[in-house]
Amino acid sequence: MIVAYLDNNATTRLLPEAFEAMRPYLTDRFLNPASAAAVARGDPDPASDARRALAALLGDPDLHRDIVLTSGASEANSWVVQAACPGEGHIVLSAIEHPSLIAAAEAAERRGAQVDYVGCGQDGRVDAADILKVVRPDTALVSVMFANNETGVLQPVAEIAAEARRRAPDVLIHTDATQAVGRVALDLVGDLADVDLLSLSAHKFHGPRGVGALFVREGIELAPLIHGRQDDGRRGGTSNSAAAAGLAVAAQHAMRGINDWATMVDLRSRLEAGLYSIHSGSWTNGRSVPRLPNTLSMTLPGLSAEDVVDQLALQGICIASGSACDSGSMAPSHVLSAMGLSYEDAKSTLRFSLSSWTTAMEIDIVLSAMRSTVLP
Ligand code: PMP
Repeated sequence: MIVAYLDNNATTRLLPEAFEAMRPYLTDRFLNPASAAAVARGDPDPASDARRALAALLGDPDLHRDIVLTSGASEANSWVVQAACPGEGHIVLSAIEHPSLIAAAEAAERRGAQVDYVGCGQDGRVDAADILKVVRPDTALVSVMFANNETGVLQPVAEIAAEARRRAPDVLIHTDATQAVGRVALDLVGDLADVDLLSLSAHKFHGPRGVGALFVREGIELAPLIHGRQDDGRRGGTSNSAAAAGLAVAAQHAMRGINDWATMVDLRSRLEAGLYSIHSGSWTNGRSVPRLPNTLSMTLPGLSAEDVVDQLALQGICIASGSACDSGSMAPSHVLSAMGLSYEDAKSTLRFSLSSWTTAMEIDIVLSAMRSTVLP
């Protein structure tokens, strides 16, 4: 049984209303939404609701035509890199991107592309000036994530996008906003107007897994990754109606709660203060810069993060060491290494990620388990 869940950057619990919205598409409304029978019956197409709900979350309901549903953010990231750089070409990426994007860039390198990876400061923030140093007039793609999945640190994407555009008018500017959507306000018609492409995933905001989207700004011709006739040829494959229905409801729910993080930030502070009192030599990564309201990355020197995660898991408590996406690999997190943490300190770093459903009781359960695990 799970008694405390503080691993919401890995995945979130499905919203019950999202589940209810999905159910009919897994039972009675099983028709292919594009079939004559579905149209004759007047079955709604949940993909269109999903696009509208996401467009509202991204700053303007009118952007719904520019949203293509995908199987998640990994597909969206792969699509961006493959389409922007199918052969030779120049890509600029931050060194702290999600492994799905880094792996896509490595595949591009094998096809002949040249990739510049730009590091971050000790605070986990990428400096716009460092990105601009390597952007050239012929750069095909600049990609910097909106919020880091390990530290929660928010990146200066608006500034990077505007300045990269000035330097290279034809460059494609992408941001992987998977950890940010539903957690911080995003405005693709305001300060993010220079962002061309944005990846997101439903399971980070209480939607189902296996569905996400790529925002492709109007006027940009992106060669498809998955060929087929659906979605006007932008992405082939029979629409996953159940997933789209769940995504639509989760996005509407996220929209209602977007500015309502005060309680969660209080709970995070309570957790942080409790951990300091357990291990006085500990520190919070990214504390001096703007961060997601739900993420706490703490280094507790001398502690084996892997062991603590395993011991807490046996008690039904879910937290992560570094990035859950990297679990199973013995290498220290590339994000913490880019921030200058030593091998030992990176291996002593825990990630706690809350959601708006996290309770004070869960925080206290984690603190008490940490106290008995960490203190001799
Ligand atoms: N990008 C980031 C920043 C992520 O945190 C994740 C999920 N861990 C992904 C991409 C991949 O998302 P998905 O699971 O939808 O493929």
